Amino acid sequence: MSGPWRTEAFRQLATPLAEVLGAPTSKALAALKLVTVADLMGHLPRRYLSGTETTELGGLEPGEDVALVAKVAEMIAYPAHTPNGRGRLEVKLTDGTGFLRATFFGKDRYTKFWQAQLSKGVKGIFVGKVGAFNYQMQMSHPNFVMLDAQGNIVGRADQAKTSMAHQVSRSGLVGIYPATSKMPTWQIAECADLVLDIVKGIDDPMPAELRSRLGLPQLYEAYRSIHRPDSIEAAERGVDRLKFDEALALQVTMAYRRADAAGHTAAPVLPSDDGLLAAFDQRLPFVLTAGQVEVSEEIFADMARTRPMQRLLQGEVGSGKTVVALRAMLAEVDSGRQAVLLAPTEVLAGQHFESLRSLLGDLGAGQVLGAPENATEIVLLTGSQGAAQRRAALDAIAGGGAGIVVGTHALLSETVSFADLGLIVIDEQHRFGVEQRAVLQGRAELMPHLLVMTATPIPRSIAMTVFGDLEVSTLREIPAGRQDVQTTIVHALVRPAWLERAWQRIGEEVAIGRQVFVVCPRISANDEVVPGDLPNPSVEELSGYLADGPLQGLRIGVLHGRLAAGEKDSVMAAFAAGELDVLVATTVIEVGVDVPNASMMVIMDADHFGISQLHQLRGRVGRGAFPGVCLLVTYTDGTTPADQRLAAVAATRDGFELAEVDLEQRREGDVLGASQAGGRTTLKLLRVLDDAEMLAESREIAEMLVGRDPDKSSDWLADLVTETELRADADFLERS
Ligand code: ADP
Ligand code: MG
Repeated sequence: MSGPWRTEAFRQLATPLAEVLGAPTSKALAALKLVTVADLMGHLPRRYLSGTETTELGGLEPGEDVALVAKVAEMIAYPAHTPNGRGRLEVKLTDGTGFLRATFFGKDRYTKFWQAQLSKGVKGIFVGKVGAFNYQMQMSHPNFVMLDAQGNIVGRADQAKTSMAHQVSRSGLVGIYPATSKMPTWQIAECADLVLDIVKGIDDPMPAELRSRLGLPQLYEAYRSIHRPDSIEAAERGVDRLKFDEALALQVTMAYRRADAAGHTAAPVLPSDDGLLAAFDQRLPFVLTAGQVEVSEEIFADMARTRPMQRLLQGEVGSGKTVVALRAMLAEVDSGRQAVLLAPTEVLAGQHFESLRSLLGDLGAGQVLGAPENATEIVLLTGSQGAAQRRAALDAIAGGGAGIVVGTHALLSETVSFADLGLIVIDEQHRFGVEQRAVLQGRAELMPHLLVMTATPIPRSIAMTVFGDLEVSTLREIPAGRQDVQTTIVHALVRPAWLERAWQRIGEEVAIGRQVFVVCPRISANDEVVPGDLPNPSVEELSGYLADGPLQGLRIGVLHGRLAAGEKDSVMAAFAAGELDVLVATTVIEVGVDVPNASMMVIMDADHFGISQLHQLRGRVGRGAFPGVCLLVTYTDGTTPADQRLAAVAATRDGFELAEVDLEQRREGDVLGASQAGGRTTLKLLRVLDDAEMLAESREIAEMLVGRDPDKSSDWLADLVTETELRADADFLERS
């Protein structure tokens, strides 16, 4: 058997391009992450150029790789000044409406040769990169072939040019692929063309009945109409087929995971009136929010069943997830089993351990003298612990004395054995692979319940797709006591007086005892010009300007990534202790800063930041007893896409709503990348918003297929799952 595949088609598609196209070509393709035949066949043209389209020349952007069908309108040769020098041939191309200049440089005999070639045809195909020169679009040295009135190539042409011309003359369509300088679009087209012949006889693994019901083309047909297009419509149907395959693979995988979890038995957890949970609730120094109560009920309902809970709990930092998770863990302990909380880093594990311990008080101190009789022990296990500490923790875990265990992936090691593990809580899921989760879940005799927590707001559409094997609970509310933060956009260019007012406002906040953050995107001034006669908003410049000017007399600190670590810590400590009034900083303050006395933040060049970053930054104020103010300073004119971002941030503090806006604004791109949603599967062709319908449809079909074939006797379904899992593994490895 070759590889993990069960169908001939998947085996064929997994063929490395190196075997098909040779080493140099496949190496250049690898830079585009195209490694297998399937990768190349799934590499879609960004768009198609057509020889009959007349608007193209006018709409070009610098930096674009293009294949243009155009006529030569005019040619001017500028001979070299010296016998051996370089002359220039300037060619004015037209598509009937727009114009584009193409320039060729070289010795006179070359420019003469090109001139002769160019004058031979009726029209030509010009391939190259569009650049800007003297504010005009132009191409330097495009590759070209000339076509006669019948569309045939005039004269001799190499293979690549021929294939390009064939594409144009056959259907009038040329696919423009995402490319690199070493692997330009026409060469990708050529490779795709070669590979098409290889996959010609491929046996479509999708059952014909399903395919025709969905109205999708057969697999080879899809590839062919994408890479050798007859029409845009056919190419689009081809793309639909590939997208559907991807959606289905994902949904089939999720459906099998759901079915798998449903097929396992878990120990049900039933509420008790006099257990740890009840004791904890009684001591809770605050009232649970309505959201916390609701989510807890969802969790307890799941845990009361004999099938393992598979739930994702999302809520922003500070929304009270930890309390919710702890209540679930206590219920588990009440029913005589253990709960484990996994954190992605040692620091986070340590923090969780401390905060759980302080929340529990003597309820978590173990069976020591004077402790409540139902007290349990909470232990920490990390990789960096000393041997003695580790052994003690391991003993408590194995003996069952430790009802609650907090740790890092050290908990996944073989030497850790639980007396009776009933609940796994994972914080920040995306750092853990599915298989790591499986290690823990699979170790117990009964399958433990699973609760995954994430602080990244994930739009519903993504949650459904990426976490399709988990039910989702959301904590939207922030517990009472959190203050309002009023956000205002300051258009410093249009209304410089507002900026003056902002500095004044800082003085007023400080005068009543508050503290202020000023955030700049840059550490020091660079050559980026800020219009207007304003100080360049870099940390160094601005802190100097403020100290000597509007904020004279205030205690101003500076914080950025280029400071030594010790210095950073002491500046931060001084600000936290109230020894500084104003902190001028870069985004280093984004993470882990908690200064309840800080009530105001001014973000300079706010348009330079993304939505989620602004949201995170703003989250640093309004954390104490005082309402916050956030000023987003921008030098834009108020009409750019960045202005829409700022408006969205000013309009709401709901991280989920902002995540939706963010997603819509970007439309595509790496919405599922590690930084954004932290998904564990990356989508290649699908776009969660645009393809929402297809995702939903494929989910239904997956349910049906998996329901009919729970044991994966279908080679096709098995291969779809294998494909998804291999890709998820690869993404996971890449990120960790
Ligand atoms: P998360 O884990 O979602 O970041 P935490 O559970 O750590 O949030 O809660 C953040 C802070 O809010 C903690 O200090 C916690 O004790 C407190 N908190 C949680 N729930 C409430 C509530 N209902 N009312 C008041 N404070 C709460
Ligand atoms: Mg937390």
